[in-house]
Amino acid sequence: MVRPSIVILLLLAGVAPRAFASTCEATVESNDAMQFTTRSLVVPAGCDRFTVVLRHAGKLPATTMGHNFVLGRTADIAGIVADGMKAGATAGFVKRGDARVIAATPVIGGGATTSVTFATTRLRAGESYTFVCTFPGHAPIMRVRVPRGN
Ligand code: ZN
Repeated sequence: MVRPSIVILLLLAGVAPRAFASTCEATVESNDAMQFTTRSLVVPAGCDRFTVVLRHAGKLPATTMGHNFVLGRTADIAGIVADGMKAGATAGFVKRGDARVIAATPVIGGGATTSVTFATTRLRAGESYTFVCTFPGHAPIMRVRVPRGN
């Protein structure tokens, strides 16, 4: 299956960043195979705020195949995931008030869509960021590194 979202994101990054500077939004796709099918995320330099739309293209419920989108520095991800697990389902597997979390959506099930809008002021050039799903057992597979370009 072709993955159109990847193509679109790469276009944003490489070909016409200026033309798309006002597009401060990206969609991240996930599925019942415990995958983020979107493997890249680009935050254009001109965006003060950025919105990530998380879509779950599967059919399984949130209790068995729940996905969220949690963004943090790559160095912080292990701690974010461990504390999210302890926080449990009622907290959406994200520790309340976790300062390491840059952005997080609620957990959704198949067919659902959610989003989060966050300030980009914490994103630094040269730093490595990663987004994960913190649903128990998913983070080792559902993890995508996002280098901050410019
Ligand atoms: Zn998940």
